[in-house]
Amino acid sequence: VTYDLVVRRGRVCDGTGMPSYVADIAVRDGRIVKIGRVDATGAALTIEAEGLWVTPGFIDIHTHYDAQLHFEPTASPSSWHGTTTVFIGNCGFTLAPAKPEDLPWLLQMLSRVEGMSPEALGQAVTFTGGSFGDFLAGFEGSIGVNVGANVGHCALRRHVMGDQASERTATADEIAQMQVLLRAALHEGAIGFTSSQLELHQAHDGRPVPSNLSSPEELVALASVLAEFDHGSIEFIPKSFLEGYADEDRELILNLWRASGKPVHLNTVTRLSQAPDGWKRSLAFATEAFADEGARLHPMFATNHQGVHFTLATTFLFDEYLTLRGALTAPPAEREATLRSPEFRAALRADLADVSGKSFTFSPKVLRVEIVHRPEHERFVGLTVAEMADALGCDPLDAFLDVSLAEGLLTQFVQAAPPDQNRLDAIEEMIRSEILTAGASDAGAHLLSFCGVDYTTRLLTEWVPRVLTFEQAVSRLTMVPAQLHGLGDRGVLRVGAAADLNVIDRTRLGSSPPRYVEDFPAKSGRFVIDADGYVATVVNGTVMMREGTPTGALPGQVLRGA
Ligand SMILES: [Zn+2]
Repeated sequence: VTYDLVVRRGRVCDGTGMPSYVADIAVRDGRIVKIGRVDATGAALTIEAEGLWVTPGFIDIHTHYDAQLHFEPTASPSSWHGTTTVFIGNCGFTLAPAKPEDLPWLLQMLSRVEGMSPEALGQAVTFTGGSFGDFLAGFEGSIGVNVGANVGHCALRRHVMGDQASERTATADEIAQMQVLLRAALHEGAIGFTSSQLELHQAHDGRPVPSNLSSPEELVALASVLAEFDHGSIEFIPKSFLEGYADEDRELILNLWRASGKPVHLNTVTRLSQAPDGWKRSLAFATEAFADEGARLHPMFATNHQGVHFTLATTFLFDEYLTLRGALTAPPAEREATLRSPEFRAALRADLADVSGKSFTFSPKVLRVEIVHRPEHERFVGLTVAEMADALGCDPLDAFLDVSLAEGLLTQFVQAAPPDQNRLDAIEEMIRSEILTAGASDAGAHLLSFCGVDYTTRLLTEWVPRVLTFEQAVSRLTMVPAQLHGLGDRGVLRVGAAADLNVIDRTRLGSSPPRYVEDFPAKSGRFVIDADGYVATVVNGTVMMREGTPTGALPGQVLRGA
């Protein structure tokens, strides 16, 4: 056999952003070996791509598939949208390195903060603790997509400080021990270091996540370890990201860059009505830092639609509102009594009214009833909470809580305002800035709240050709993230590169609305978004997806930074 795979006569969009051209692509042993005129005689597999587009596989820089990849090797639904490489371990949350006795705690924290079923994680995650290298070894030979793994600040802190990681700042000696652990993880193949300090991130035990208790000195000390390496990047969410970074956070971000010399990924810049100018301030800050001192600061933009679905039984969305967070994290019996109490509701009303700096707001005129569990509530499905309150003759917050309480807090709501012109204008300006990266899928996380994997498909359909050419948009999903994460042989179609590629029918390319499925361990549910137009997705030379259906092949590799 001459070639393992030949993709014939496709329009090759090579990932660099240069104009596309028609060529055959030949693959052998997982690599592209020829681009141009190829004799396909004897090839093990030929894909006829006349009239179709051939792109590098997409690289999703911000996912939380750390747990899911243990039981669902294709990283669905990302792979349905052309993604062939996922980066995990973002926002400071990783399962390694971990002492075996700490693993249950780390899993529960991940489950709470990133909205995954604790039962599913408990049943299906096969990693039982160990070094970062042990964790990576667990994926070898068992995944359909490529995975690059970051090491998270919370795991480092828990490993060194134990339970005190959730209580206080670290001593100089503890910081030095975290540096040793981080250095080891980077040697063992971690692609970078991540952390976050959002007020929103509260662990399952009601305490802040460990990284929230870190001093700026600790973060900078950890960043400095990356300076010793040829690879690596930092991903960080500062406390004040919504309003566009306070002065102390700006200083911290710049110091992370100065100490490491590595790209610093800042997640996510988005226009929210409660902080309408935050994105502009973030963009201006990063742009000036690039211009003034050549700092590599890369905020991330979102082209997914970001509607959120939730039930009060599982949501983290209200965690910024301390009254409701306290009630929802209490034991079930106490939780119900509190939610019924008039004093609690009065306090909650006051709390919800203060929306400054909040990433989520209780908006009865936008929030709709989506799924109910009692026959007498069926008439509410599709109504806004305000309309339901009118029907019940009560106040919207009372209607929201009473209907939920009658269903064991399992009533499902959706908050999905159509994007308004202000928001679309903001996204357009962000896409036009070349320092911003495409992403914000948060894939694998917040499974009962939203699904953002469609950012790839939406960038290619809703913003092409209005803002970018198809070639430029593809580059933002391929070569740019590869370059920023040191993946020299991916993200472009050239001889010698890894054969990760998509064959796309642009006449059909598109995303569907979110769909709820219960296909995870312990019958746990999630939202997925279907795609159309991805004719074939190839990972390391092997077809992994064909017309939206996994072939069963597991050609994914662990991409080690070192
Ligand atoms: Zn995240």
